[in-house]
Amino acid sequence: MALFAYRCRNCGLFTFPLPCLCRSCGGREFEAVPLSSRCRLITWTRLFALPSGYKKPWRSFGIAEFENGLRVTGVLDCKNPMVGMELHAVRGIVRTHPDARSETGFIFQAENGPGLLP
Ligand SMILES: [Zn+2]
Repeated sequence: MALFAYRCRNCGLFTFPLPCLCRSCGGREFEAVPLSSRCRLITWTRLFALPSGYKKPWRSFGIAEFENGLRVTGVLDCKNPMVGMELHAVRGIVRTHPDARSETGFIFQAENGPGLLP
């Protein structure tokens, strides 16, 4: 899946997901733009009490910042997360509900490849 973000046509702010209003200028028009996969880990946490649909004993989540300043939350697939480390973002299925609906989202991996997703 290709990575993309939304850019406000009025002020140029990058955002994801698509908002109703730009938080910077209040603009309502956005355009989808390609997003580089390179990003940096801002912070992270590991959850052991996940909601249904993850089917895993635990999972790490992180906030990463892309080169254009966009910050997004996603699943962190990295063996030893460290704040500030370089990451590679992909989009993929992050959750499958009991009725088989799937949710896609950002998955952050270390530059040297995937970690040890449980
Ligand atoms: Zn704006």
